[in-house]
Amino acid sequence: MRMSQLFAPTLRETPAEAEVISHQLLLRAGFIRRSSAGVYHYLPLGHRVLQRIMAIVREEMNAAGGQELLMPIIQPAEIWLQSGRWHVYGDELFRLKDRHQRDFCLSPTHEESITDLVKNNVSSYRDLPMLLYHITNKYRDERRPRFGLMRGREFIMKDLYSFDRDEAGLHESYMKMYQAYMNIFRRCGLTFRPVEADPGAIGGTGGSHEFMVLAESGEAEIVYCDACDYAANTEKAECKPQVTAGLPPLPAEQVATPGQKTIEEICNFLKVAPADTIKTMIFRADDDLVMALIRGDREINEVKLKNLLDCLDLRMATEEECREVSPGGAGYLGPVGIKDIPIYADPEVMALTRAVAGANAPDAHLIHVCPGRDFTVKATADLRLVQVGEPCPQCGAPLKKARGIEVGQVFKLGTKYSKALNCTFLDEKGQENLMVMGCYGVGVSRTMAAAIEQNHDGNGIVWPMAIAPFQVLVVPVSNKDAAQMEAAEAIYKELNAKGIDALLDDRAERAGVKFKDADLIGIPVRITVGNKLASDGVVEVKLRRGGEQFTAPREDVVAQVQ
Ligand code: ATP
Ligand code: MG
Ligand code: MG
Ligand code: MG
Repeated sequence: MRMSQLFAPTLRETPAEAEVISHQLLLRAGFIRRSSAGVYHYLPLGHRVLQRIMAIVREEMNAAGGQELLMPIIQPAEIWLQSGRWHVYGDELFRLKDRHQRDFCLSPTHEESITDLVKNNVSSYRDLPMLLYHITNKYRDERRPRFGLMRGREFIMKDLYSFDRDEAGLHESYMKMYQAYMNIFRRCGLTFRPVEADPGAIGGTGGSHEFMVLAESGEAEIVYCDACDYAANTEKAECKPQVTAGLPPLPAEQVATPGQKTIEEICNFLKVAPADTIKTMIFRADDDLVMALIRGDREINEVKLKNLLDCLDLRMATEEECREVSPGGAGYLGPVGIKDIPIYADPEVMALTRAVAGANAPDAHLIHVCPGRDFTVKATADLRLVQVGEPCPQCGAPLKKARGIEVGQVFKLGTKYSKALNCTFLDEKGQENLMVMGCYGVGVSRTMAAAIEQNHDGNGIVWPMAIAPFQVLVVPVSNKDAAQMEAAEAIYKELNAKGIDALLDDRAERAGVKFKDADLIGIPVRITVGNKLASDGVVEVKLRRGGEQFTAPREDVVAQVQ
């Protein structure tokens, strides 16, 4: 591409409406232009970056077994009424009517759409698992569209949906996507962290992770642990257990105190015989015997443990059973603790007759657990486990705080949408089952902005190589010097022939202007053809990141930057 022909209108001044650096630089360097609040044109440079991010996303989705399709943006209200989200989504949903006064919306996400599609066209266990994705515009009438591409009302998302026959299958699909997301953001050259997240409006009971690009301008607050891999969105970390609301406070004498570890002690304390009364006893979550068991506290000897479990109508679950019973599936077999209780307390989970409570080790789960009977959940304030300086719930080291930009999120949906839209398959025995779903989103356009928040300096953008609009910029210093122009042209052609995306600054501008624009646009490698060509037969190579500079013989330079 020749810069004289490139549609990249740069701006000297920082536009007043742009608060964050990515928005300022995207406007100034000519990557985007505003159409209306939260809606943007992507100009050729911006479009190139999007294409690069999408190419990485596509490769990783395809490698993980995803199949690309393209779903409509205009959605009929019927399926949104079926899922219940027509009303729940509120003002963020862009709604419209056709000429017959029928209701439609512009899709903010595609769970309803894809479930409807799969329901009508996939019916056998043989077709599962199925992973389908697309990369397309999404529409959300955000309360505060701002920060340019970071929070748009029209934005580009890659969303993949997984359909499995059971929780174990979902867990496998989830882990595949989790790994693919790690690959995507690493390949984009970003510093990021996966964090435990609240499933939010998308719903589902099985857990969720967000991928956070670490940046001060991020709207999300996260806590993380240096000593282990624990990290969570503070929204999740402070999440509220719903179950407490309906429970009466415990009479003081019925509260088991810390350190009470044996059934005899508890029965003594309550002045009852083990078999009859203890079933109805309510334990405090944090310090009672049941929680000690649930946490895998092995101080209690086997016989006492067995007695207690019998009394409570509980028994230890096998790993298989956990997978089969728990909506969280095998996810609960990992390190879990009190922070997961809100999930068990979910009404959908409570409705399951064989609820499982997790432990920090395989085969240390209790089945037939009844929150409220076997333990209560402490009040919200007490559950704010993860604060800066407070101990990590996983390893005890002090937690730290950071800000992040959410560039992606993965969810275990379970059967929320398949139930609502009746999306079923027939198993080997001819029995009908609900498909078990997951969904996985990458904010493609937000990733472009996040990359700039993390990679810029006082002069402009510093693109990571993998997502830069061009890899190399060739700048002849003087347009009037025929030898310089000729060499620059030849280097440009050589680069392109080698498959390196190059941009040639062939404009009749002063060198100072060209260099300023070069820094602003942020192409990783600049080759400058100047006076040293005539005197020494060399050109200058400069790296945008770090500013390292060296000279190279004109003939060698392409091989050297390759
Ligand atoms: P946020 O918490 O920032 O509002 P979200 O959790 O509502 O985002 P998801 O429903 O998880 O978003 O959508 C998947 C991805 O789409 C997000 O991780 C984010 O990268 C991107 N995204 C969501 N909303 C926007 C937006 N308004 N503008 C640009 N990208 C967005
Ligand atoms: Mg949102
Ligand atoms: Mg979010
Ligand atoms: Mg999200």
